[in-house]
This record gives sequence, structure tokens and C-alpha cells, in this order.
Amino acid sequence: MTISEQAAERRQDYDGASPFPGAEEHVPAGRLQVGLTAAIVVLPFIALGVAIFLAWGQGVTPTDLLLAAILYVLTGLGVTVGFHRLLTHASFTARPWLRVVLAIAGSMGFQGNVIDWVAVHRRHHAFTDRPGDPHSPYRYGTGLRGQLRGLAHAHLGWLFTGDPTPAERYAPDLLADRAMIRVARAFPAMCALSLALPFLAGWAITGTVHAGLTAFLWAGLIRIALLQHVTWSVNSLCHVIGTRPFRTRRHDRATNLWPLALLSFGESWHNGHHSEPSCARHGLDRGQLDPSAGLIGLFERLGWVSNVHWPDQERIQRRRAAPPSQARVPARDRPTPELRDERGTR
Ligand SMILES: [Zn+2]
Ligand SMILES: [Zn+2]
Repeated sequence: MTISEQAAERRQDYDGASPFPGAEEHVPAGRLQVGLTAAIVVLPFIALGVAIFLAWGQGVTPTDLLLAAILYVLTGLGVTVGFHRLLTHASFTARPWLRVVLAIAGSMGFQGNVIDWVAVHRRHHAFTDRPGDPHSPYRYGTGLRGQLRGLAHAHLGWLFTGDPTPAERYAPDLLADRAMIRVARAFPAMCALSLALPFLAGWAITGTVHAGLTAFLWAGLIRIALLQHVTWSVNSLCHVIGTRPFRTRRHDRATNLWPLALLSFGESWHNGHHSEPSCARHGLDRGQLDPSAGLIGLFERLGWVSNVHWPDQERIQRRRAAPPSQARVPARDRPTPELRDERGTR
């Protein structure tokens, strides 16, 4: 049992506003983990600065941007459709080959190996915004200072803490799946591939090593940095700002944040998702752009996936929290209505 889970056991009467018990008891991660995480997190971001410097006056080539867009969509949908909706929440069943393809595409997103990703995310749903949540922006309480610290923790800081999530407990199904174990073991190779592909493509298309290098910068490192920050924004911003049209479990303050809908492939309809975790569509209301759900629908028409959990309108209406006018109050200022039904917590 991890420290924050022990703290959760010690204090079940969390009030929804104070810092989590044990919030200050930081267990620093091991040196190797800190070094690797820092490299994964900081290098793509530094590359953005380098790229802007290089691009000044010369521009970037359309090839760089096209390759970046293709790889962003491929790895992003690997994370949202593969890691999240399929492997974490089982919101549809996929043919075995498609499961592997999606897991590989997600692994190329530089967000950790598939089994650990799923375990951490299931733990986030099991303890959302209360002690035990690996990345809650409410960790340090709801005061302004605590909230800002919490946002930094939920966005990025949590990656640097030694608070492991046991896969045996949260992802036993994936540990029993030999294909997923293989994909998880190949994570470093997938990362290398994710960087090598744009370099090789840039080189092959234009015939110069220089073009390979700018493609590596834009379609490799910067594409990774953008996807990482969009995913982390769902963990941080989508629990603090935005609307809460649907009821969620007690303390859970997940929000819908429309500006991130396209870049996050529909994952920023996070209130809808936390209200109906196993639903294949996160944008539950009309006009809520959800490209991940669109892809799942396409897979269904092709016969590649089955048993898709599409939204059940009656259920969704029952979960509607309040008229839209009231639901626009910022999440942190509103008490979280509790769902009696705790079905589908992962
Ligand atoms: Zn969440
Ligand atoms: Zn989820």
C-alpha cells in the first residue's frame, strides 16, 4: 500500500477542501527515475526553444509540420483510444491485432509503458480528488496557494514523486495478457522508433540530413512535448477550470474544458468521462467534438471492434447536475454532488 493510500485509510473523513493527509510527506523518487523523467519531460520542451531559434528567419518546412501532425494524431489516438478508452476502461472490445497496434501507437507517445499508464489512471479514477489520487490538483487544499501548488503537482510534479502504483493491484488483466507485457517491455524501443521515424522520413523525403534533423526536432521532440502537455492539462486544468454539467462521485471535480477538445481528441470532456467512465464517447452533449469516439465509430463500422459502450441517453439525463446556468460556476467553488451508484469506477 502506498503512503497516500495509507493516509487515505487513516482519514476516511476527507472534507473536500483541506490538504490531503500526508501531502507534505514527500518520498523523493530514485535518482534514476528522476533523471529519466527529467530527460523525457524537459528535453522536448528545450527542443521547442531550439526549434524557434532555428526557425527564426528560415521558417520550418511544410514536411516538418506535416510529419508532426501525422505523428501527433497517430500517437495521440494511441493514448486516448488505446491506452485510455480500450485498455483502462474497456469501453469497447477490439480485435487482438488492433489492441496491439493501439498499444504500440500509445507507447510511442512517451507517456510511460502501457501497463503502468493504465494502473496509474485506474488509481486516479478510484481516488479522484481525494487522498490516494496520484495526480489531484487538490492535494494541497483549495486555498489559492494550495490550488496553484496542486495544479503544478497534477500537471507535472507527480511524475517526480516516488509513489508507485502497483500494477498487480490495478492492472492484473494486462499483466495476464502476454501481448501487453511484450508491448510494455518494448517501451524504450517504441520511444526510439518515435524519434527515429521523423528523422528517417525527413531524410528520405528531401534527401538531406539537415532536413532529417529539422523533422526530428519538429515531428519528434516538439510533437512529443505538445502531446505530453495536452495530456497533463487534462489531469491538471480539467479538474479545476471548466463546466460540470454531470454529477460525479463524491469529491470528484472533473470538468469539461472545450478549448482543449480538438488537441486532446475529445479527452477534455473530462466531466462527462468521470461521470460515465466506461462510456466510449466523452463528449456526451451535442456538438462536443470527440475525435476519439469518431475513430471508435469508424472501427465499429469496419467490424474491427464490438461491444462499444455508446452513451445511454436516459442514464445521462439522470446524471445531469443542474441547469446549465448553475453548472457554469467554477468547479472549485461548488460542492461536488455525490453519485449513489459507484458502478464503473474505472
Ligand atoms: Zn481525471
Ligand atoms: Zn479515465
